[in-house]
Amino acid sequence: MARPKGSKLSAEHRAKISQALLGNTYALGNKFTEEAKIKLSIARSGKGNVMYGKHHTEATKEKISRHNLESGHSRGINNPNWKGDNVEYSALHAWIRRHLSKPELCENCHENKRLVAANITGVYSRDFSNWKYICYRCHNYMDKTVNNLKYFKGN
Ligand SMILES: [Zn+2]
Repeated sequence: MARPKGSKLSAEHRAKISQALLGNTYALGNKFTEEAKIKLSIARSGKGNVMYGKHHTEATKEKISRHNLESGHSRGINNPNWKGDNVEYSALHAWIRRHLSKPELCENCHENKRLVAANITGVYSRDFSNWKYICYRCHNYMDKTVNNLKYFKGN
């Protein structure tokens, strides 16, 4: 509504504007919108990524792979025997590594590769029949398979 220059808004009018602005939460918390997230994601992939054009050395890849395996990267809380920091599991695994003699070849694919003691039954005991020495590749594969089986059994 047009009003004379210099005139003040009525107290009632000001109260109305104040009330209307209270519900305005635009930019509240300054979160990224879904669109902004997608744009960022695109910007950081390919040439925008810090790893673009660079590659990990074989030694680094090996290190990452070993770390992921030893830290239980793909097991963790998905494992039914997981108890917090899982000291029992670590101790058992160490015991198995010390007492179960390591074969020359992977017991799964029979290739001559770096081997790791793996639990193959989901039964975490000192019974050697629950364990096998397999290569890292088979270990990764088996972890996924075991998780799938658990999933389909509804555990
Ligand atoms: Zn293998």
